[in-house]
Amino acid sequence: MVTQRAYKFRFYPTPTQKRQLAIEFGHARYVWNWALERRTKAYKAQGESLNTIRLSRQLTVLKQTECPWLSEATASCHTQKLRDQDRAFKNFFAGRGKYPRFKRRHQTQSVRYQLDQRHVAKNFNAESKLLKLPKLGTLKLKWSQRMGGIPKMVTVSKDPAGRYFVSMACEVEIAALPARKNAVGVDVGVKDVVVTSSGDKSGAPKYTYQYARQLKKAQRRLSKKKKGSQRRRRQQQRVARIHARIADSRRDFLNQQSSKLINENQVICLEDLNIKGMLRNRRLSKAVADCGLYELRRQIECKAKWYGREVLIVDRWAPTSKRCSECGTIQESMPLKVREWECPDCGTEHDRDINAAKNVLRWGTAGSAETDKARGAVKTPRAVA
Ligand SMILES: [Zn+2]
Repeated sequence: MVTQRAYKFRFYPTPTQKRQLAIEFGHARYVWNWALERRTKAYKAQGESLNTIRLSRQLTVLKQTECPWLSEATASCHTQKLRDQDRAFKNFFAGRGKYPRFKRRHQTQSVRYQLDQRHVAKNFNAESKLLKLPKLGTLKLKWSQRMGGIPKMVTVSKDPAGRYFVSMACEVEIAALPARKNAVGVDVGVKDVVVTSSGDKSGAPKYTYQYARQLKKAQRRLSKKKKGSQRRRRQQQRVARIHARIADSRRDFLNQQSSKLINENQVICLEDLNIKGMLRNRRLSKAVADCGLYELRRQIECKAKWYGREVLIVDRWAPTSKRCSECGTIQESMPLKVREWECPDCGTEHDRDINAAKNVLRWGTAGSAETDKARGAVKTPRAVA
């Protein structure tokens, strides 16, 4: 299928490029905040919304009068910022997002360039690893992936850890994987992020523990630095770098897990965990957010679309943990601490999570019509030590 695919590459700017980028980021931020203020005023005064065209005209006037220095930066980047804000407002009015906020210096900074499609050959070539942008010249990119097409837009960003990235999206044709016949049920959790009905357990990435001490130390140091000082800034970057490392290894881990599931199975059944509900439990919520269970589901659904796989979501009220996957008996209760149990009816010994994954598979493939014959027969499980 043909789809938009996003690519992200790290790059290393020269000192000159760094200086120019600081100007680009700063000015783009100024434009965003300037436009946001105008929009907010107009919105509060008469509930009207200013559009990009009107703001664009006002911006031109601003450049000619009060802020001639804005012309040091690339003009098209400002137009893109206005468009981004327009989209943020549309999302807000449609109830899909929060009210847009002012941008600050130490958050992620970004500017978007439109690649002129008429002269694109001069500025972009994935084969010879060339990307040229206005006022910056050629960027030194780490081409870590093969790009499958020519992008229309290029976003350059700098994260709080001080790393520079280029993101590009282009239309690519993705070939479906050869069809398979099997289906798998997946139980997602905290201890093992993925447990499958065929008995595979992914474990949980250990980055949290690895980096927790580092992070704690760095944060303690940060709290001792004087506000507004250069040392504090540098320490802030150190903390941000640890956060970035955690986020990177988490994404890698989830990508490995979702790719494995997609490669090996035709149909993937997932439980519709009411993750938001789980998030209300504070102790669990940190762990759930940490494991990135939302992100995992997003990746699985996205990859399934690309590669011609099917994802089936099981109703979240299905008692996946309490049901014996062998005989269908439903147990009265199944406290979280019970990891292994024996079915009092048929005597099968179950691993809690694998049993749940088997139930997910059963309900996913059979649909909700398949309720239990043995629903009345409620029995207390015997925990196996
Ligand atoms: Zn049983």
